[in-house]
Amino acid sequence: MNSSVGGGSKNSALGAPAHLTSINSDGTYSAMTWNFASGPAALPSEVLAEAREMLGRSPSLVEQPFTEPPVTAMADEAEAALRELLDLSAEQRVLFLQGGAFAHFAFVPLNLLGRRDRAEYVDSGLWGGRAIAEAKRYCHVSVLASRGPDGSLPPPARWNHDPDAAYCHLVSNETADGLWLPDFPDSDRVPLVADMSSDLLAREIDVRRFALIYASAQKNLGIAGLTVLIAKDDLPGAARPETPTVFDYRLQLRERGRINTPPVFAIAVAGMMFRWLLRHGGVAAAARRNRAKAARLYATLDGEFYRCPVAPEWRSGVNVVFRLPDPTLEARFIAEAEQNGLWHLKGHPAVGGIRASIQNAVPESAVEALVERMVEFRRTNG
Ligand SMILES: *Cc1c(COP(=O)(O)O)cnc(C)c1O
Repeated sequence: MNSSVGGGSKNSALGAPAHLTSINSDGTYSAMTWNFASGPAALPSEVLAEAREMLGRSPSLVEQPFTEPPVTAMADEAEAALRELLDLSAEQRVLFLQGGAFAHFAFVPLNLLGRRDRAEYVDSGLWGGRAIAEAKRYCHVSVLASRGPDGSLPPPARWNHDPDAAYCHLVSNETADGLWLPDFPDSDRVPLVADMSSDLLAREIDVRRFALIYASAQKNLGIAGLTVLIAKDDLPGAARPETPTVFDYRLQLRERGRINTPPVFAIAVAGMMFRWLLRHGGVAAAARRNRAKAARLYATLDGEFYRCPVAPEWRSGVNVVFRLPDPTLEARFIAEAEQNGLWHLKGHPAVGGIRASIQNAVPESAVEALVERMVEFRRTNG
């Protein structure tokens, strides 16, 4: 079955929308599928086609030295597109590293603590909690704020600051819990660090406020294997001596991320994603589309049959999480959704329930199909 984000119905090959890529032996397309995976998440079919084309060349980009053009030129172009999308300042530098955000939960304290032994963290959900657990191996963690049982946090103005903290870390969007921070703390007081794995480029964020941003690529920027870092030139602190060379941010900044082999293919796909986004109106347009998709889904949650565990002002615009009256109904909902071509709606294993991830590559028509299914399921099971 076609796993890309698709549209249309069981079309003949001729009449099928261009983004349907899987053709059956009888010339029809597979039944339409909509992919709501959180990450690795849906990619635009245009990007998948470009990636296929890139691998078809000889020699392809993934078979050439990473220290020379065309690979360095490809990475430079990807960076230029990202700079344009985010309107980065001259002091903000881009690094294409590996490890995933989870590895950087450890590399952040190793790189930024310097001589200090304390850092501030927001305990916003699953990923915030995991970042805290990693940081505790290296320093004292001052928890600024914690998510309450109603799925909300106190507003940033009421967070308990630690005057001796080396930096303040937050997860801007909690991918598993379906919660995002509508606002961020002041950056004058202490350097801000954010894991933006699931909302970088999905909404408008004043990225210039952050000393360091990092994001795993597979949620919204491409495929797994790449972690994008946006670091200010004058990062606070200094790397601890035990920091691995290839994850020493300052050394990598000096060497333009080329101390060891970067994830060439993943960088190339990210570049394709960035240019795709630029062609479709940039971050502002993507944010507008995502707001409309999220609003449509949240409006379908009636609070009785479909309940959202997150307080309204904290609800994520990219991971819409909801519950049904009992786990049996949730399992049935997921199974029937799959039968109807709506894939990967199961909540994160640690959280349960239902989760619809509606990242940039998920079209409005996918959300319409899901809303229709929800209405129908409630009619027959409510
Ligand atoms: C997925 C995710 C991670 C973990 O990413 P890996 O690439 O698996 O290390 C961390 N933080 C957030 C917000 C995520 O969504």
